[in-house]
Amino acid sequence: MKRLLFSMFLLFGLIFAVSAGAEESMVSVGLESGVSYASFSGENGLDIYDAVYGDLLYHAAPGEVVDIYSYDGGFASDGKFSTPISMLSVISVERAPINWYSEPYRGYFRLDRIGGAFTVVNFVHMDNYLYSVLGKEMSDYFPGEALKAQAICAKNFALCANGRHSGYDVCATTHCQVYGGVNSESPNIRAAVDAVSGQTAHYAGDLVQLYFFATSGGATEDISNVWGSTSPYLISVPDPYEPAEKASRYTWTTVLTSWEIQSKLADKGIYIGEITNVTVDEVTPAGRALTLTITGTEGSHTVRRESCRTVLGLSSQWFTVNPYYDEAGTLCFAIDGRGYGHGVGMSQWGAYGMAMQGYSYVDILTHYFPGISVY
Ligand SMILES: [Zn+2]
Repeated sequence: MKRLLFSMFLLFGLIFAVSAGAEESMVSVGLESGVSYASFSGENGLDIYDAVYGDLLYHAAPGEVVDIYSYDGGFASDGKFSTPISMLSVISVERAPINWYSEPYRGYFRLDRIGGAFTVVNFVHMDNYLYSVLGKEMSDYFPGEALKAQAICAKNFALCANGRHSGYDVCATTHCQVYGGVNSESPNIRAAVDAVSGQTAHYAGDLVQLYFFATSGGATEDISNVWGSTSPYLISVPDPYEPAEKASRYTWTTVLTSWEIQSKLADKGIYIGEITNVTVDEVTPAGRALTLTITGTEGSHTVRRESCRTVLGLSSQWFTVNPYYDEAGTLCFAIDGRGYGHGVGMSQWGAYGMAMQGYSYVDILTHYFPGISVY
């Protein structure tokens, strides 16, 4: 009995250590780089440290604004401090949010000098980062299980982002994930993030990149038909769950005149004369365009995979093209399509539909990413 209790103690200790470790993981978010000025304040005051030796340089009173400039290889703030040290930390008293200009952020800030300017980096606990990111990626009225699935996607993204930037993990724009601090949080989203705290998605034991998009239109796409690479869990799956009446651009129609297509190509430096035809030459098993040819009076231009969508700025890669002449005799192309976004991985509207039908976030993730495990 003693032995059993002892091993249970060890087991619980281990579980606690693992989950606490995951919860405590920090994300460094690059908010701005190449700047020579930044402004901070804190409701309960701020402590400014040199981040190399850990010396306190200045203590700001509650609400006091500290304007920091790059100065002589280091930093200075008028009448407050100056230091030749190339790295500063801005830490809030009693963990209140820090205002960077007028926007509140959780965690703490670090300013890193690189050459004549510096980078503003926000260090924030993973879950606190997700509170903000999720609100920019999915509407907070989406059902909780869909929000939890999205939280795992965003968490895996941040954990797999190694090497996208030097000096920090992720930037705060669409290049990585849009992050806006405390003002883009909401109670529903915080609850969803907390519910899956410490959990991530894995394939064959490895952390995986989980892609997502708005609407599939009926089936997701194999990554090889979009970006050319292959992946065992980024394959095409049927998507019967999207609510066609609600999902953004479940079906859509765009009409482009011959001249509009010519000008879209010209924007990309492609000149093939007056456009006479647009044809989808090859489709994927799911139904998306795999090869598209645009024919003009002075040549033709063929694109493959994702370029079938982006070359004409369409909502998705799944469409048919129907040429006709309008009443004025202008050659037009009616493009009838399905879905919104690249089509690889999880459909956000499909996640909405699955959650509304009672599926859990694990059901949602394992449907869109076959073979992964969440733990
Ligand atoms: Zn980025």
